[in-house]
Amino acid sequence: MNLSYWERTSWFSNIDFTIIGSGIVGLNCAIELKAKHPKARILILEKGKLPQGASTKNAGFACFGSISEILSDLKIHSEQEVIDLVKERYDGIHTLRHLLGDTAIGYQNYGGHELFLNKDLELYERCLKELKSVNELLHSVFKEDVFKTTSNTFNFNRINTNYISQIFEGQIDTGKMMTSLVQLAQQKGITIVNSTEVHSFKDSGAEVMVKTDDLEFTTKKLLIATNGFAAQLLSENVKPARAQVLITKPIKDLHVKGTFHLEEGYYYFRNIDNRILLGGGRNLDFKTEETAEFGTTSLVENRLKELLRTVILPEQHFEIDYSWSGIMGVGQQKKPIVKQVSGNVACGVRLGGMGIAIGSTIGKKLANLFD
Ligand SMILES: Cc1cc2nc3c(=O)[nH]c(=O)nc-3n(C[C@H](O)[C@H](O)[C@H](O)COP(=O)(O)OP(=O)(O)OC[C@H]3O[C@@H](n4cnc5c(N)ncnc54)[C@H](O)[C@@H]3O)c2cc1C
Repeated sequence: MNLSYWERTSWFSNIDFTIIGSGIVGLNCAIELKAKHPKARILILEKGKLPQGASTKNAGFACFGSISEILSDLKIHSEQEVIDLVKERYDGIHTLRHLLGDTAIGYQNYGGHELFLNKDLELYERCLKELKSVNELLHSVFKEDVFKTTSNTFNFNRINTNYISQIFEGQIDTGKMMTSLVQLAQQKGITIVNSTEVHSFKDSGAEVMVKTDDLEFTTKKLLIATNGFAAQLLSENVKPARAQVLITKPIKDLHVKGTFHLEEGYYYFRNIDNRILLGGGRNLDFKTEETAEFGTTSLVENRLKELLRTVILPEQHFEIDYSWSGIMGVGQQKKPIVKQVSGNVACGVRLGGMGIAIGSTIGKKLANLFD
């Protein structure tokens, strides 16, 4: 792009901090940097017309892990690591609520429930057996028994008798949260340039040269918050993971309220505006879903529709309104990667399926890597 004198001086000169990615991490990072360095010139580059990864595509669960997810995490993490992960998520939700306010993010505390399909009897029994020990493990975080069994008050079909529920889980309106975050960043004087994809960067030691699809400029520090797209710029252990979602049209007298998990968190659904939003099914075909390309597949969509018909809304007439997908960043370990990658470049990526809970904290941590 042939930039004018004015464009160069007002947008791309004397930049102190450039952030790649305007998802929840990039925006929180920029807001934290502005608080620490009020006079700094801060620029966010975003490849999408809107934030285009996971932060505007997700299900809006303000969650910290269902009991089966926690048991699954305990297979690859130590007990202390799992306590730390859950605490980080729980505290992170408070950080987000505190930053933007409950009204601005549409926060509702209806509680969360894990349902176990009839075919998952073994998992159900294992979770019931471990309920006491998991509650003991997490006592330091919640100061009371976090998981309890509750009866099937929403009349779901083809599930084992009880849900394993907890009252600490909430839900947010993801769109409200992200528009509030963008507005807050702009109010603080942070520049966001959309439809601009960073192709490469070079840290010379004194500054960083950034190349986008159509311009080049220098910045003192570069912070990479591209999550599922991280491999395009960094050699870190982050894989893209596509997640598909669908939403029903509004349903008259919808009685379902809350956030619900199935099959170790591979499926999730909630109420929103008298509709059901349902996502998941990546486990049906991990290989195809390990992609940074947006899109939906009939394999996953058919399973989601089947779950709606047979389990979630068995007695109710409903119509699907539309579907979409988002791209997460995952790895074998659930811990995000927040680190300096060279003298003037750092990254905060691999948020997995918990970015609402930990995105604010990870953004802050990323900002604090440079003093
Ligand atoms: C369908 C779905 C449901 C989910 N449900 C939940 C949930 O209920 N609760 C929860 O806590 N988490 C959920 N998540 C996970 C959560 O949304 C993510 O962990 C979180 O949004 C990650 O935020 P981020 O800022 O790290 O990444 P992103 O939001 O992906 O932001 C990265 C940004 O970088 C931009 N970008 C990438 N490469 C470049 C480049 N080269 N140049 C410029 N810009 C670039 C992208 O366009 C994107 O906007 C869900 C995710 C999906 C996809």
